[in-house]
Amino acid sequence: MNVECLKKTIRDVPDFPKKGIIFKDITTLLKDKDAFQCAVDAMLDQVKNLEIDLIVGIESRGFIFGSAVAYKLGKGFSPIRKKGKLPAKTQAVTYSLEYGEDTIEIHEDAIGKGAKILIVDDLLATGGTSEAVVQLIEKLGGVVTGLSFLIELDFLHGKDKLQGYDIYSLIHF
Ligand code: AMP
Repeated sequence: MNVECLKKTIRDVPDFPKKGIIFKDITTLLKDKDAFQCAVDAMLDQVKNLEIDLIVGIESRGFIFGSAVAYKLGKGFSPIRKKGKLPAKTQAVTYSLEYGEDTIEIHEDAIGKGAKILIVDDLLATGGTSEAVVQLIEKLGGVVTGLSFLIELDFLHGKDKLQGYDIYSLIHF
């Protein structure tokens, strides 16, 4: 399977989670063994030559791709979660959403000073979430080597919030 075929395995769900949003549903990709394998292999291909100490995945679909990439690269994985989910001592960053705000957390001891971090998520939309994740990693002394996404929604210009960072997106809509 190639990346063009992969694109066709992603399902558009209109008006989810609210009216006007076209949700990119990746469960249709994940259940297809060839598509899942192709997606992970192609994401891996884009980042395999980077210097990486640790993969950080964003809740929750970032866990699926982040852990697969980490396993294949032979690296560790650390989860970034919504407020209140991680059991040990955490550091947090609060960021603005379209309506209101959200808080994400990571374990305080997840990232050593100077550790080179690859951030992985399923989709880059407005970039607000990734921007907050970068802040959180840098707060702990980590160095962001790059951000890897399965999908980037180009028309939302998420890259503008991540200037100066290397972004690796596999599929563009
Ligand atoms: P953003 O902070 O706007 O870049 O949004 C990124 C996060 O929201 C990612 O973790 C995505 O999983 C999710 N997301 C945003 N927009 C969509 C969409 N149209 N379809 C699927 N997931 C989305």
